[in-house]
Amino acid sequence: MSDCVPTPEQVDRRLRQMLAADSRQTGDGAHTDRLMLMLTRSCELRCAYCFVGLTEEAYGEDHPGVPTVGVPRGDMSAATARRAVDHLMSSPKPRLALQLFGGEPTRRWERVVQVLEYARSHPHLGGRALAIQLTTNGFGVDPERLAVLASAGVTVQLSVDGAGRANRFRRLHVGEQVEADRTWERTIHTLRSGTARWFLNATLPPAAFGELPLRWADAVALGVPAVQLNYTTGMAVSPAQFRAWCEGLAAVLRSARTGGPACFNRQAAADPAPLCGDVLCDVDGTLLQIGGIFHEARFPGLRAAYTHGHVATAPRWEGHRATLAELWRRTRAALAGDDLAVFVAGMRLGAASDLVARAVAAEAR
Ligand code: SF4
Repeated sequence: MSDCVPTPEQVDRRLRQMLAADSRQTGDGAHTDRLMLMLTRSCELRCAYCFVGLTEEAYGEDHPGVPTVGVPRGDMSAATARRAVDHLMSSPKPRLALQLFGGEPTRRWERVVQVLEYARSHPHLGGRALAIQLTTNGFGVDPERLAVLASAGVTVQLSVDGAGRANRFRRLHVGEQVEADRTWERTIHTLRSGTARWFLNATLPPAAFGELPLRWADAVALGVPAVQLNYTTGMAVSPAQFRAWCEGLAAVLRSARTGGPACFNRQAAADPAPLCGDVLCDVDGTLLQIGGIFHEARFPGLRAAYTHGHVATAPRWEGHRATLAELWRRTRAALAGDDLAVFVAGMRLGAASDLVARAVAAEAR
């Protein structure tokens, strides 16, 4: 590895190791089981790199909670949300985690509140730790709602791609873009003034990998407590872009050693993003590996390939999660040619990120 950019051989070897070891976050050897809830497929934004099947059709209408052919429309009903939480609570692991997701989950705020109340007082929680995270674009977060999230111990993951330009180019608002910029500024101020735990989540497509240090500088300037920098999946990555990501990540991690926000990218052994080990319950109650949702508009065949069943007929947690090796087998059966090559490029970025994090950590020893 020169200058923290791993060689193709090093990346391939690390990728094979990661597949064989399974997810360090949610695999059988981890102490936590985690379920993501897709509360709605509605969102105020249409980010250029987002391949989730979003729609405003049937927003505000509860899905009947029966298995749907293709991408379901509408929002998660109260009954499906309860079943999903019951499903997670059936896990035998000592720690549990719930992530409220979408679309934009705060667009069904009453469902957010219901899930928080139901999960935190669930009879099968049994004294176990329950970490709850809400992923939001920030449009539905105000001081009153933030107080509710803080009192429930929710960690807010705010998806904002920097201080302005990147948001305007890549996070397109269905309404007025100027108002969108003001909203992000207001939300960040609200979060900084509140008591809820939160962090900034910034995503870069390959064409913007060179901006990685700028996104870190934005996070420092915005005074965020913690930051996570992500690469998009489902997009081709040129050798120059691969190098730009590795070099940018190394620069950020070296800077993070000396101060600024906590940088979650410092933790090695994250799942390679396209093959993420997390399971999600969709608005209709379908249980599937999160990669099936992340790539809906890019690799539609992955949704069926990554599906584990339906929450109405899955009373127990076991048997509804795939190992990374199993996911990789299902991926190869579902994708071919250029699509498979693009998918693999995302996996290789994950393995390379892990190697970069380890190399920078080793420099400090
Ligand atoms: S990435 Fe998130 S905020 Fe952006 S369009 Fe997709 S769901 Fe909405």
